[in-house]
Amino acid sequence: MNKDRRFWNEAVETLSPQKMKVLQWNRLKGQLQYNFDNSVYYREKKFQKAGLTPDDIQTFEDFQKIPLMTKDEHRQIQAESMRRFGHPYGLITCAPREKIIRINSTSGTTGQPTLYTLTENDIKVLNEMHCRKYWRSGLRPGHIVLQALSLSMFTGGLPLSDGLQSMGLCVVPVGIEGGTRRVLDFALLTKPDVLIATPSFGEYLIEQAPKLIGKDARELGIRWFFCAGEPGAGIPSLKKKLQEGFGAKIFDHTGGGHAFHGISCETEPYPGMHFVSADHCILELVDPQTKDPIEITDGAMGEMVFTFIGWEGGPFMRYALGDLIQIFTEPCTCGWPEIRFKILGRADDMLIIKGVNLYPSALKGVVSELEPRTTGALRIVLAKPGPLVKPPLKVRIEYGIKDISAEDKHILKTELSELIKDRLRVNPDIELVSPFSLPRESGKTSLIELKSNV
Ligand SMILES: [Zn+2]
Repeated sequence: MNKDRRFWNEAVETLSPQKMKVLQWNRLKGQLQYNFDNSVYYREKKFQKAGLTPDDIQTFEDFQKIPLMTKDEHRQIQAESMRRFGHPYGLITCAPREKIIRINSTSGTTGQPTLYTLTENDIKVLNEMHCRKYWRSGLRPGHIVLQALSLSMFTGGLPLSDGLQSMGLCVVPVGIEGGTRRVLDFALLTKPDVLIATPSFGEYLIEQAPKLIGKDARELGIRWFFCAGEPGAGIPSLKKKLQEGFGAKIFDHTGGGHAFHGISCETEPYPGMHFVSADHCILELVDPQTKDPIEITDGAMGEMVFTFIGWEGGPFMRYALGDLIQIFTEPCTCGWPEIRFKILGRADDMLIIKGVNLYPSALKGVVSELEPRTTGALRIVLAKPGPLVKPPLKVRIEYGIKDISAEDKHILKTELSELIKDRLRVNPDIELVSPFSLPRESGKTSLIELKSNV
């Protein structure tokens, strides 16, 4: 194995966009037939509902006539299968039961967990996607990885350990169940090169290391930090904190049990994550409200829809998970060839101002561009719950420099206004507030504040 090569799977990862399209289309055709033949649900609720058979699908537009699937629907199918067959696998699972060798799951924090059924083939595909991401970031066999995520059947748990091992990495699956002290003790004991954790746990480790082990997190020797579950590298202040706190390179990455995988590169300013799994996942964008397709062009924003291709167990077809993303099609300066994306948040968060869709997290991204002159913290102040907002859009933004002059404040406000108008096509009414005056929450802080008197 040539350790110097840039890509894990050179042949596929460097395919031209045209060749990738051909490969995707051929795989999609096969997958549609397979799904039709093997899943009652797909046959009845998707193909027949659209009045189509796989043979009728000759163009990508034909394919887009298949109705979308949602997470709620996924839960309903599991429940219906339970009623009809006594188990949840009867409707969407396409492979014979004896070929299913693993069940993954989402964490199920809001409602019944949704299940992913995998065959040996699917696990190979999934592991390959993990290899592609870590290989590009510079990891090689022999590196030691401290996996400080919830160690469970959830996708960042045992399935991720499996993926890391398949690349030849040495995994220390320490988990987080034993507490912070245990993670730090194992970091001292096992000498990891790499840490995988949520960025908020990363911050906590930096803070706690001197108290708990009498050393700075920097002294642990970690050279790569992979943010899981939440964005880290995409938020300049957080990236800097992690970078300096560990003395490590910081990467965002995504893609657990399903087909949509991405990894960030080292380009500055942050250009989003590269979409590394196009040969096993067809990506579409739709309007979160109308569900109409949105063309994938540079800067396009919308709800992500994906279709598994080359999968056997429970291949999802036009699955709309409710995640909002922005796509970038212009080549990245890092030289990795494929399109990139930023995760903007959940579809439920979207606001509409004079017909323009606004994603609060996209607004946060724009405000963060002016760090340290802003702290990056903001609140959108709404008179009533969205998505419809009566203009102008009221935004409170923290300036970053404590003793800022009135003149500099005025300049900052104008610059922010113009930047927001330019990037998001929305005219904001900005109120600048002093640093750290907006409340912070320990979990995810909401960017929206409801005020009945505005
Ligand atoms: Zn790049």
